[in-house]
Amino acid sequence: MILRVALPTPLFKLFDYRLPKGLRIQPRIGCRVRVPFGNREMIGVLVECAADSDYPIDKLKYALDVLDQQPALDEIQFYLAQWAANYYFYPLGEALNQALPTLLRKGEAAEFAHSTLWRATSGADISTLSKTAVRQREVLELLLRNPDGVSTDLMRVESLPVNLLKTLQDKGLAESFTHQPTPIHANDHETGDLLREAPLTLNTEQQQTVQRIQQKAGFNTLLLEGVTGSGKTEVYLQAIQQVLSQGKQALVLVPEIGLTPQTLVRFKSRFQVPIMALHSGLNDRQRLDAWLMARQGTARILIGTRSAIFTPMRNPGLIIIDEEHDLSFKQQDGFRYSARDLAVLRARKENIPLLLGSATPSLESLHNARTGRYQHLTLTQRAGNAKPPTFELMDIRGENLHSGLSDSLLQRIDKHLKNNTQVLIFLNRRGFSPSLICHQCGAVNECTRCDARMTLHRSPPHMHCHHCDRQTPIPKACHQCGSEDLRPSGAGTERTEDFLAHHFPKIPVLRIDRDSTSRKDAMKHLMEQIHTGKPCIMVGTQMLAKGHHFPMVTLVAVLDADSGLFSADFRGMEKTAQLILQVAGRAGRADHPGEVVLQTRHPEHPMLNALIREGYGAFADSELQMRSAAHLPPFSAHALVRAEAAQSGRAEAFLMDIRQQMESQILRTQGTHWSGPFPSQMEKRAGMYRAQLLLHSHQRADLHRLLTQVLGFLNQHTGRNRVRWSIDVDPLDSY
Ligand code: ADP
Ligand code: ZN
Ligand code: ZN
Repeated sequence: MILRVALPTPLFKLFDYRLPKGLRIQPRIGCRVRVPFGNREMIGVLVECAADSDYPIDKLKYALDVLDQQPALDEIQFYLAQWAANYYFYPLGEALNQALPTLLRKGEAAEFAHSTLWRATSGADISTLSKTAVRQREVLELLLRNPDGVSTDLMRVESLPVNLLKTLQDKGLAESFTHQPTPIHANDHETGDLLREAPLTLNTEQQQTVQRIQQKAGFNTLLLEGVTGSGKTEVYLQAIQQVLSQGKQALVLVPEIGLTPQTLVRFKSRFQVPIMALHSGLNDRQRLDAWLMARQGTARILIGTRSAIFTPMRNPGLIIIDEEHDLSFKQQDGFRYSARDLAVLRARKENIPLLLGSATPSLESLHNARTGRYQHLTLTQRAGNAKPPTFELMDIRGENLHSGLSDSLLQRIDKHLKNNTQVLIFLNRRGFSPSLICHQCGAVNECTRCDARMTLHRSPPHMHCHHCDRQTPIPKACHQCGSEDLRPSGAGTERTEDFLAHHFPKIPVLRIDRDSTSRKDAMKHLMEQIHTGKPCIMVGTQMLAKGHHFPMVTLVAVLDADSGLFSADFRGMEKTAQLILQVAGRAGRADHPGEVVLQTRHPEHPMLNALIREGYGAFADSELQMRSAAHLPPFSAHALVRAEAAQSGRAEAFLMDIRQQMESQILRTQGTHWSGPFPSQMEKRAGMYRAQLLLHSHQRADLHRLLTQVLGFLNQHTGRNRVRWSIDVDPLDSY
């Protein structure tokens, strides 16, 4: 028998091995196998047991070991990874590998960290020990005091000899047992004790929504489009409650857990069941334990980011994707899968409902809802007493700006602070200033590795490239003319913070961006300060846009509403609209009405006007019409072949070759097109010159067939090792 194994290598093939010596039973598909590979060992996943190989059997190496009895990847995970490898043109071995927790990739057993603990046997009586056996008595006392178990570590802490445990065991007074780290609550649903607190009384819209989610058993994709503050989270909670009461599990994907600790708190304070948050703060061991608890069904609610879509579930009942429009659900390098799209596949395979929620759904999902593939649910009102915020386009043409703020805006801020409420200023640019310019000759401080300017940071002072992370000291003189008159141009969050702190000396100004929150607990402290409800000004990047509930914020100002309006990216408008509405959604979420001010130099811009006067739906309508007319996604399928090389021109030449092979060897299927290669929008990045070739088609199947052939060319091209290439199916970042 031959084992056909997928190994985590960039090669698009499987590897054949003979059964490990001495092994007689046939291992199961999905088990991990340790094999020799070149002059090292690797861990792969068994994909197939075959009777034959294309290679002479006696030339094949023996696999070393089969690591699992029960497949490490269950049928669903295996199916998902295999489907994704196929769809995203990524090597199967790598895809399967990424579906596994890190420790399993490294060959650790798929078991909880068992620790051996000791306890007294039932009925153990200390009087049976001789009075002179002082130490033995001490040990037994310790065991009796700790019926949950005593570790050998605790013995050492108590300065008791560990070998006495064995002595007591021989006398029938002590026993060892294996301890699993987390208590098992598998039967919660039977006791009816799911809730820690009573659910809110739903308003009519919410109630209808929850009913529609529950209406249809089995697979169903529902798009919940609910304005910010409409109580989507409450809908999730009550939909989950129903699933839990049936003894099933729920998987919730969110863009980023660390940024919105409140969401997790709301889940934990509502339910009395084990909830696992798969966040970046977990170590590998904790992650594996969480994964195992999901697999055995004890973890009842799983909350995680993108990669959690591969978490196994014993009794799946529901998948929810919150903020489904968020770009982070698509991995932007390596295995470029979309967790949202895989969720649809998974829900169908598991025959359970999938709920996609957002105030600003992606045009892809809206299109699916409008064409009937998804069920469309809407929440048009804010929950409780909250009213929708009012919008204002503030024309700043000809205005004097102070670190990005106009005089009218400063007056407005002042008014809100005087009413004892909070203000949120949104500026999607961290650092002090996005460029440092020589006042004498105009030279700009640029990154040597990227086609980009270095950002000036003041705290701590340095120049920073936000694209490759290169950092340098702040130059004292111009590199071109030697002048010392270097001036920052434009404002980032640090500069705006600086200005506001001077302008409103009595009011705390809180900067919230990647720099100010990088230290452990920094975000927590900032949130605590905001939740005191006292007047303050927050200045932040899009970190502030996501899911936060700040009841005291009454004014939200977007300093530069124009930044995405003229982007070369056809999704630029969609991204801008989503960002503006998400940030705006932080205003007036409780009893105080909210106001949103957008500073713009294009107050007549149709998109901005549609968005604020008619709402996201109207904006999306006109945007979808435009996409349809231009044959852009979601009305056609796109894929990019990306390439990069250290030498200028090489990536483009490589792609040109691929294109020429396509022209000469592929009969253009009707409706399949290609264009490029073009240099990427930022051609040089981190020292690499990048280019891309766009393939597109109205029919996904045609595009896929074309890509299969292109993959063949890529894998055989003699120059393939001198460039880094990849295929990006359904690309989302700008191209
Ligand atoms: P979303 O997720 O749609 O932005 P949230 O679920 O965060 O909205 O709800 C916004 C606020 O409204 C929260 O403070 C929440 O507790 C409250 N809320 C939600 N549903 C109700 C309801 N039915 N009755 C009263 N308050 C509600
Ligand atoms: Zn100069
Ligand atoms: Zn750089």
